[in-house]
Amino acid sequence: MRPVLLAFIFFSAGLLPAGEPKAAPAKIQLYALDGGTLSLSDMKPLAQDDSYADRTIKMAIPAFLIRHPKGDLLWDLGMPDTLVDQPDGFKGPGYHYWMEHKIEDQLKLLELSPADIEYVAVSHGHSDHIGNGNLFKTSTLVIHHKEHADLFSAEKLATPEAQNTYAALKDAETILVKEQYDIFGDGSVVVYATPGHTDGHMVLLVHLPKSGNLLLTGDLYTHAEGRTRKTIPVFNRNAEATATSRARFEALAEKAQARVVIQHDIKHFEALPGFPNFLD
Ligand SMILES: [Zn+2]
Ligand SMILES: [Zn+2]
Repeated sequence: MRPVLLAFIFFSAGLLPAGEPKAAPAKIQLYALDGGTLSLSDMKPLAQDDSYADRTIKMAIPAFLIRHPKGDLLWDLGMPDTLVDQPDGFKGPGYHYWMEHKIEDQLKLLELSPADIEYVAVSHGHSDHIGNGNLFKTSTLVIHHKEHADLFSAEKLATPEAQNTYAALKDAETILVKEQYDIFGDGSVVVYATPGHTDGHMVLLVHLPKSGNLLLTGDLYTHAEGRTRKTIPVFNRNAEATATSRARFEALAEKAQARVVIQHDIKHFEALPGFPNFLD
């Protein structure tokens, strides 16, 4: 979704008491974490024309934990955990964000703390995807080089939104992606550049031993109907680049016979095992 100015006060959470994290699994597992919910009172901005006018939509804001024998990866980081402490959520003209479970508490259910997460990768730098960046400064950040250049400019870093969400990632070990990057070096988890929503947007392909290939879309699509109807939100940086990226994405999905998970589509999110259950 479009970037919003976040008025959160960030309470820096102390590190959890050092428990023994559960040993890495022998095979890959994928967990869908709850990173918040968004409702829009008017869907009109989700298309260039008026075809969605006067409809409302409720959207999921997930984060995904991929447990791999070589390490743990979070793909997208949800809204900031501090949103849970705001009983009425965060409201503005036409939108309402709220969050029921902190990412940090969900990780705790698996006996993990942010310091146990080896990699964090983000589809792009909007607040609903990098909201908890500050928790993961000891992780290795995997990000498209253009997204990184934009997010970590001196000007952006100085904004309250950056300070309250991701600024601590500035000094994290960082892998800058150009076209694609194979995170564990075995082809099981690969990110692909898909510019358009932002200049450095990426999607993630994960191969699960039993469930097969899954493609996590970031904001390449905002909802399932938008994929069928090929609608492009008005707030995308570049509509033409979005269409080109979608064509490449659909070819990849076809070739990989992948299940496409549109992250903000609430039905797609609810069709995944409820945390702490997982796909393998
Ligand atoms: Zn989004
Ligand atoms: Zn976005």
